[in-house]
Amino acid sequence: MEKKYKLFINGVWVDSEDGSSIDVINPATGEKITEVSQASQNQVNAAVDAAREAFDRGPWSRMAPAERSNLLLKVAERIENKLQEYATIESMISGKTIKQSSNYDMPYIVDNIRYMAGTARNFEGKALKEYVPEGASTIRRDPIGVVAAITPWNYPLMEVIWRAIAAISVGNTVVVKPASLTPVTTLMLASDLEAVGLPKGVFNVIVGPGSSVGEQLAKNKKVDMIAFTGSTEVGKRLMELGSSTLKKVSLELGGKAPFIVFDDADVEAAVQGAVVGGLVNNGEDCANSTRYYIHENIYSKFLDALLRELRKVKIGNPLDETVDMGPLISESHRERVESYIRKGIEEGGKLTYGGKRPLSKGFYLEPTVIETDNNSSVIVQEEIFGPVWTVLKFKDYDEVIEKANDVIYGLGASVWTKDITRAIRATRDLSFATVWINEHVPVPSEMPWPSYKQSGSGSSLSTYGLEEYTYVKHVYFDISGATRKSWYYQVYGQK
Ligand code: NAP
Repeated sequence: MEKKYKLFINGVWVDSEDGSSIDVINPATGEKITEVSQASQNQVNAAVDAAREAFDRGPWSRMAPAERSNLLLKVAERIENKLQEYATIESMISGKTIKQSSNYDMPYIVDNIRYMAGTARNFEGKALKEYVPEGASTIRRDPIGVVAAITPWNYPLMEVIWRAIAAISVGNTVVVKPASLTPVTTLMLASDLEAVGLPKGVFNVIVGPGSSVGEQLAKNKKVDMIAFTGSTEVGKRLMELGSSTLKKVSLELGGKAPFIVFDDADVEAAVQGAVVGGLVNNGEDCANSTRYYIHENIYSKFLDALLRELRKVKIGNPLDETVDMGPLISESHRERVESYIRKGIEEGGKLTYGGKRPLSKGFYLEPTVIETDNNSSVIVQEEIFGPVWTVLKFKDYDEVIEKANDVIYGLGASVWTKDITRAIRATRDLSFATVWINEHVPVPSEMPWPSYKQSGSGSSLSTYGLEEYTYVKHVYFDISGATRKSWYYQVYGQK
C-alpha cells in the first residue's frame, strides 16, 4: 500500500488543493495504514467539469461499443492478475476476511466487469417497425451523461464496479465518491483504468466527507444522474438534492432480510445457510439474513444447531486464511451495533449468544443472537448492519409472511422448505426484490439486484442494471414522403 493516495481528476493524479487528507484506519488494529487527499470544493467542481467535457466532447460516449468493451476487458484482466494485492488491501481497509475478498469479492468483481463489457456490446433498441401506416419507429438507448457514483464502505470496490463501471460501460462518464473509510481500492482501480488507456475525464475519483464533498457533488447542476449505494437515510437526502435539477436517482439502500424455515426443511442445510447468510461480510452486508423466523415444531432443533455452529466461528485477523469473521468497520459503528444489542434486551429480547468484544484490539464483536417474540421491536425493524440476528417462532404460513413483510425494507428474503408449492407461493407473497429458496446470498452477474420499498429504486447487474444508465429514445421516421400527412387536417385545414 502506498503511504499516501492522490485524487484522480481529468486523467491526472492531484494532491488536495488545501493540503487536507483523510486517514485510512485498519479496523483489525485501529491503526492508521495510509492517507488519502481530500477534495476541495474547487476539485469537486473540476471533477464534474472533466466528466462533463469528456461526455459532451470526448470520444467515449460515441465510441464503438466493442472498443469500450475491450478496455473494460483489459481492466478485468489487470484486476485478475493483481487479485491477491487487491484482495489484501480490500481486507485491510474494510476488515472483511481474506477468505471472502480473495475467493469471492475479487473473482466476482472480475466476472461483473466481463459481464458488463460483453452485455454493453449487445445493447440495442427495438428493431424498426411500422406502428402506423405512414411511419416507422425504433427505440434507441442513449447514455444519460455525467453520473455521480457515491458508494459505501462495506463492499468498497464492488460497489464502484456496480455503479461506476456499469455506467461507463454504456457510454456515460463518472465522478466517484467512495466512502471516506475505504477509498483505497477505488483509487487503485482508477490507476488500472488509466493504464489501459481510458480517455481522460471518463472516470474521476474525489474523496471527502459525504456531508460536504458528497452533497456538493450531488447538487452540481452538471451532474445528470446520482447512482448511490448506502443507507436509506442518505438515499432520501440525495433524492432531495437531485430534485432541484430533476436528476435521475438510482438507489441501493438498506436491508433487513427475513430467513424463513418451515418445519419440513432440511434443518442442517438451513443452519449452514443461516450462519453464512448472517455472517457474510462480517454481518455488514445489505443482504444479510437478520430475522430468523423458525417454525415452532423445529425451533429448538434449529436454534441448538445454530449455536453449535456459531461456537465454531473463528474470529480474528482478517488476513489469516483460516479466520471466518473479522472486525467491524470502525469503533463508532461497533458502538452503534452494541447499542442495538442493549436496546433488544431492554425491549424484552433474550440474549442467547454473543454480544461481547472478543479481542482487546480492533473493532471486533461476537456474532450475536437475540430471541424475541416481538416483531415490532427496534432490533427486528431497523437495519443494525452488524452481526446481530433476531430469532422468532411462527406457527403458520400467513403469519410468517405477514411478519416477514412487516418492515420498511425490501431487498432480499429466503425460504427454506421442501414443499415446492409453498416455495413458489412464497416467492409471490414476499415483498422483497430477491427471494432465495433453500439458499441465501448468491446473485450471478446475469441476474438483477433490484430493490422494493425503502431499500431503493432501480437495479444493479444484469441487463436491467445497465439499462439503469440509459435513456430510452423513440425515433420516428416518416415513410409516406407526403407533403401533407393524412392526419394534419385534425390541426389545420381540411381532409
Ligand atoms: P452511508 O452512511 O449512507 O454512506 C454511503 C456513502 O454516502 C458514503 O460515500 C458517504 O460518505 C456518502 N454520504 C454520506 N452522507 C452523505 C450526504 N449527505 N450526501 C452525499 N453523500 C453522503 O452508508 P454506509 O454506512 O457507507 O454503508 C452502509 C449502508 O449501505 C447500509 O445501509 C447498507 O444496507 C447499504 N448498502 C446497500 C447495498 C444494496 O445493494 N442495497 C449494498 C451495500 C450497502 P462518507 O463515507 O464520507 O460518510
